[in-house]
Amino acid sequence: MITRFELGDHVTMRKPHACGANEWVVVRTGADVKIRCVSCNRVVMLDRGDFLKRAKKNLSEGMRELEET
Ligand SMILES: [Zn+2]
Repeated sequence: MITRFELGDHVTMRKPHACGANEWVVVRTGADVKIRCVSCNRVVMLDRGDFLKRAKKNLSEGMRELEET
């Protein structure tokens, strides 16, 4: 589960995509969240709560923390 994300963040999900990749880019935020698979460019829409539960790690948030320190 993740708690924070922003447009353009890269995230991994608990389950890899059907194509075998597991890295997604957030392409829309709001009540519904759209994520795009970086490997096959498939876009998936989830409601916000569902997205937060199903996401495993926000790769971009870690990068931001590194930049801040
Ligand atoms: Zn994919």
